[in-house]
Amino acid sequence: MQVELYLIEAVDRVLSSMSQKSSNKARSFLEKMGVHVLTNTMATSCDDKTVFIDSGKSLNTGIIIWTAGIKGNSTVGLAAECFSRNGRIIVESYNRVSGYSNIYALGDIALQTEEKYPQGHPQVAQVAIQQAQFLAENLERIKSNKPLREFRYKDLGTMATVGRHLVVVELPSLRFQGVFAWFIWMFIHLMSIIGVKNKLMIFMNWAWKYFTYDQSTRLIIRPKGCADISTNNYSIPE
Ligand SMILES: Cc1cc2nc3c(=O)[nH]c(=O)nc-3n(C[C@H](O)[C@H](O)[C@H](O)COP(=O)(O)OP(=O)(O)OC[C@H]3O[C@@H](n4cnc5c(N)ncnc54)[C@H](O)[C@@H]3O)c2cc1C
Repeated sequence: MQVELYLIEAVDRVLSSMSQKSSNKARSFLEKMGVHVLTNTMATSCDDKTVFIDSGKSLNTGIIIWTAGIKGNSTVGLAAECFSRNGRIIVESYNRVSGYSNIYALGDIALQTEEKYPQGHPQVAQVAIQQAQFLAENLERIKSNKPLREFRYKDLGTMATVGRHLVVVELPSLRFQGVFAWFIWMFIHLMSIIGVKNKLMIFMNWAWKYFTYDQSTRLIIRPKGCADISTNNYSIPE
C-alpha cells in the first residue's frame, strides 16, 4: 500500500529535548524516508478522516497515530493537590508524595523538580531506574535512622532511532549520528535486556531482520532505488 506520511509537531523541531544538531539530523533522516515533517504546527482536533491543524487547514487521512505524550493514571484517594496539570504526582526530592509521610512515587508518574529540570524530569527509563535505586537506599537510611539524601538525576545520555542505520546519540560529552550510532544503540539496548537467553534471542531476531530486510513490522517502507522525495514541494491538502 502506498502511503503519504505526515509528522505534525507543535514546536519548531523534532526531538526537541535533544540538541539542535541531532534534531536537524533526525528531521533529515525522516525526510529522506519520505515523511513530510510539519513543525510549528499544532493538531487542534481530529475525526476518523481528518486532522485539523492550527493554521485552519486540515489533512485528509485514513489513519491517525497520536503520539503526543502520556497522562498519568489518576490514583483515587490521594489529595487533588498532589497532582500536576498533566496528572503526574508531585513528589519532593526524596520521592515522597507531597503532603504524605509514607507514600512514595517514582518514574513516569512522579513530578519531581530540581534546578536543572524545573518542569520535572523527562519520562524515560533512566529516571525511573535511578529513582528506584535511590529510594531503596533512602528506605534503608530511614531504617537505620540516617538522614535522607536528595535525588539528583544523572543524565547518561539520550538516543533516538529513526530507522535502519539512522540513529542520533547524545552522550554527556559526545554526540554522533548515523551507522556507528545505530550500532551503539543496538549494543546498549541489548545489554539492558535481562538474561543471556533473551539477549541471544533478540540478537538473532535483529540479525535475521537485518540480513533478510524483513520489514513485516515497519511502517515506512521505501523500495530500494525509490526517489528521495524530501526535496519535493508539497502542500497540505485542504
Ligand atoms: C512506546 C514507548 C517507547 C519508549 N521508549 C523509550 C526509550 O527508548 N528509552 C527510554 O528511556 N524510555 C522509553 N520510554 C519510556 C519508558 O518506557 C518509561 O519512562 C519507563 O517505563 C517508566 O518506568 P515506570 O516504572 O515509571 O513506569 P512503567 O514502566 O509504565 O510501569 C508502570 C506499571 O504500572 C502498572 N500500573 C498502572 N496503573 C496501575 C494500577 N492502578 N495498579 C497497578 N499497576 C498499575 C502499569 O501496567 C505498568 O506496568 C518509552 C515509552 C513508550 C510508551
